[in-house]
Amino acid sequence: MKAWLYYRLSRDEDQEMNSLQNQRQILVDYAEQNGHEIVGESFDDNVSGMTFDRKGLRELEAAVDKDEIELVLVKDLSRLGRHRTQSALFIEHLRMNNVKVYSVTEGIDTTDENDDLLIGFKQIYNDFYAKDIGRKIRSGINQKQKKGLIVHLPMGYCKDKLTGEVKVDEIAADIVREVYMKFLDGYGLCSIAREMNRRGIKSPEYFSHRKAGSQRTEMCKKFLWAQTTVKRLLTNEIYTGTLVNHKTVTSKIYKTMTFVPEEERFRHENFVPAIIDKATFEKVQAVINSRKKNAVRTKNGGVIHRYSGLIKCAECGAILVAKQRGSGDSKYIEYTCNSNHRYGKQYCTPHRIHESQLDKIVSDELYYLLDNILAESQKYDRIVKDWHKNRPKYERRIGQYQSRIKLLNGQIQDILMERISDKAHTDMYNEMIAKREAEVRELEAKIEENLRYDEFSKARSSELKSTAEILEDILTEPKLTDADLRMLVDKVLVHQNDDKSLEVKLVFNGAFSPSRTVEINSEK
Ligand SMILES: [Zn+2]
Repeated sequence: MKAWLYYRLSRDEDQEMNSLQNQRQILVDYAEQNGHEIVGESFDDNVSGMTFDRKGLRELEAAVDKDEIELVLVKDLSRLGRHRTQSALFIEHLRMNNVKVYSVTEGIDTTDENDDLLIGFKQIYNDFYAKDIGRKIRSGINQKQKKGLIVHLPMGYCKDKLTGEVKVDEIAADIVREVYMKFLDGYGLCSIAREMNRRGIKSPEYFSHRKAGSQRTEMCKKFLWAQTTVKRLLTNEIYTGTLVNHKTVTSKIYKTMTFVPEEERFRHENFVPAIIDKATFEKVQAVINSRKKNAVRTKNGGVIHRYSGLIKCAECGAILVAKQRGSGDSKYIEYTCNSNHRYGKQYCTPHRIHESQLDKIVSDELYYLLDNILAESQKYDRIVKDWHKNRPKYERRIGQYQSRIKLLNGQIQDILMERISDKAHTDMYNEMIAKREAEVRELEAKIEENLRYDEFSKARSSELKSTAEILEDILTEPKLTDADLRMLVDKVLVHQNDDKSLEVKLVFNGAFSPSRTVEINSEK
């Protein structure tokens, strides 16, 4: 066959191995061994800086156009383009001209359609077209996004036909508000969806479909509310008036979804009129995150009990399940250990506790926490005030930490030596080393803290003050809401003593820690 040799040097490879001479020699050898007639050759050197020079490829193309060749020999298929898409496109181009490509080191013949690697290249070729079309559409959206335009208006908003201005669609907005309120009242996503469907309320999909000008407005399955419908509605920040664009980019060729980090999003505050106030929105997010973490589900679509998923038995680790007790005016909610409830007293003790008792404990704890936080923040205020006076003290402390680090590092060296001579106890030595290394890291952090103790104290104080503000806000309400509870409390552990008294351990979320144990006497 009439063969053309093509070789190319690229930037990102072992240049020794793939030098132009090397590649050429491989091709010449192959052609000679297989009885091909070499009618021409060309090459590109993409290392020399002429990245966009495709002189060699253009010579090859010219030969193809003139029908001078039947076969192109390359060391590997990636020679034919600077990236795989380009190679795939070129292979396709050659095929259309009845020129086959043989990849010498990969052993691929482009007439053999079943070759895996070739199929891979063809896949890329197909994706390239998909991607090209996709990109055109997406770049259109991107331009709009940059200007902060909304492509799809979510339920609750509509556009003024004359001015194009985004307005609140009051009827739909009321549905949105109701969903938020129901959720904060403790309803689960599923039961909200079911309730909406039961009442025949049109779903967000219905609204967006209608706006898109579709004729299909009948209530088909697509337009029913689902758990995800409710969740999307509850997490869409637009309802606070803030438009967040460019949340995700789709990389078409790999078909993966990449989340753009927060700071790469375009945020437009007060972009549209708010339907939900910011505080409500934040609370809903806190509840969603907490439920996700604690995997709370309603069994029969009813109200989620306030402590469901938060409260556990300290003895057996089971959850405490809520039960409605009493009748008429004396109805109350009681939580009991699920092991005891399901399998009886030989498995665990009841751990019976009323919801009202838990509420009392939590609210008492919050007052206690508030006092502590305020006291703590005053402590830091004093530190900031006396910073210059006390500076020598911090410097002394830093000196102490430094000598401790020196001592620990010495010990680590010794242990390392021991470990070498006593291989049988490697694990033990590793543990000893890890312990000391952890302490060193801790001390280094402390040194850093002490060096900038005034800054640190200022920041800590204002942090504590804002936490205190949140707590004060919550405590002015007559009853702690479920949302507040889930924002504040990470978990509740109930321990039953032999004398049937209970110990309740409350673990608060990050900013509201530390946790504390309160003892109460059960059986009323
Ligand atoms: Zn238990």
